[in-house]
Order: sequence, then structure tokens, then C-alpha cells
Amino acid sequence: MAIIEVKDLRKSFGNLDVLCGISFEVEKGEVISVIGPSGSGKSTMLRCMNALETYDGGSIQILGQEVKTAPDINDLRKHVGMVFQQFNLFNHKNVLENCVMPQMKVLKKSRAEAVEEAMLQLGKVGLKEFAHAYPDTLSGGQKQRVAIARAICMHPDILLFDEPTSALDPEMVGEVLKTMEDLAKEGLTMVVVTHEMSFARDASNRVIFMADGLVVEEGTPEEIFGAPKQERTKAFLAKILR
Ligand code: ADP
Ligand code: MG
Repeated sequence: MAIIEVKDLRKSFGNLDVLCGISFEVEKGEVISVIGPSGSGKSTMLRCMNALETYDGGSIQILGQEVKTAPDINDLRKHVGMVFQQFNLFNHKNVLENCVMPQMKVLKKSRAEAVEEAMLQLGKVGLKEFAHAYPDTLSGGQKQRVAIARAICMHPDILLFDEPTSALDPEMVGEVLKTMEDLAKEGLTMVVVTHEMSFARDASNRVIFMADGLVVEEGTPEEIFGAPKQERTKAFLAKILR
């Protein structure tokens, strides 16, 4: 059974049609990379999946629940986490608090339970010793690993990533990709918008190529990178893999 089912998704900002009928499904445990040129609607699509944005037509079902009519957005977001390009950490809270607060607020956990979980997940991303540091003192790669730990503390069924390495200095991309690859191996369902073709090729089960608000082509990494069918896909890959 599909854990995510997107059907004919449509979204406009005023006169601008940004999503023009997007359809795809994701099975539990799949890692999907979404690639495509800037402005093609990738972020808007992810934001719709997490109810950060409304949509005008079509449907998004997450675990069988239509996102638009979900009775409780917090409940939906317990199931669907998101990692942003700009980390979105609370800079006036230390690393531990960043991971503890959402658990207490949304999952109603006790502080002790939330701290235990936070330390476990910070350990997994290699940042246990930074628990009491403030985000401003961390590198971009460390901040993004905190953001991933914070998301994982919520034990989401699905984790969405919107260009998680695009704001990083090149030497920090590897540590974040490694963290993501570890999650993929653990069987987490992930939808990753990325320009990192190595991740798309080596760590995902399926690749979706989007352009102009449409899914132009989808397939296994072998299919998309080895034998793309659509001219638009070929042109994009020729540019990005140059
Ligand atoms: P991508 O992530 O693929 O680069 P986006 O989803 O960010 O694409 O944007 C798709 C298009 O929608 C772009 O033309 C962008 O300028 C426009 N857009 C995105 N968000 C808004 C918004 N809140 N208001 C108006 N236009 C927007
Ligand atoms: Mg984007």
C-alpha cells in the first residue's frame, strides 16, 4: 500500500500555475529523489505535502488521510517531518532544547523522556557533545545534522527534505549526505528534493524529474541517469552532470 499518494496536484500563485497536475506514489520505506530545474515547483509540492501550503486541485493522501481535510495539522505533522535548506533551528535555544521542545509540545512527552530521545538521536548524527551549544556556534553541516536529529526525535513515518545540502559549504555536504544515507538504510520513507546527483543515483530507489510544474519522467536511478527517455530530462542531466 502506498504511504503517500499524490494525484493530479494543482497549485497556482495568482496567475502563475506552479503545480500543473502532479501525480506519484511512494511506498513505505522508499527513498525518492526529486530533481529538476529551479522554479519547477519542487518546494511548493513538498510544502503542500506537509500542509505548509494549501493546494487548489487534486489530492494528497498521507497514510490514507487527505492532507487538505486533515482534522488536525499537528497530527499530520507527527507523521510527516521536514528538513529545510536553511535548517530553521531556533537560534535562541541550544541544540538540546531544539530537539526537546517539539517532542514535549507536539508529542506531549515528559522532559526526561524528550531529553533521553534527543541525546540518542544527537548521538546518531555525531553531535552528542554539542547538546548544550547554540546553533550560531555550529557549522552549517552541524546545524543541518541537528535539524535532522530534531526531525527524527519525532519518529515521523515520512521525512521530507528540501535541498538539505544547498546552503552548505562544499566540504560539509558529505557529512549531511552520510546522515541521510544512514536514515535511508534504516528504512525511513524519504522524499528528497536535491541537486546532489550522487545521492539521487546511489541512495534512492526512485527518481522523479520535475519541470514546469509537471512530473516529466520517473524511474529507477538506472533508468533516469542511464537511459532517460524524455528530451527535457536529457537536457537537464546534460547540464547538471557536465
Ligand atoms: P523550486 O523549489 O522547484 O525551485 P518553487 O516551488 O520554489 O520551485 O517555486 C515554483 C514557482 O512558484 C516559482 O516561480 C516561484 O517564484 C513561485 N512561488 C513559490 N512560492 C511562491 C509564493 N509564496 N508566492 C508567489 N510565488 C511563489
Ligand atoms: Mg525549491
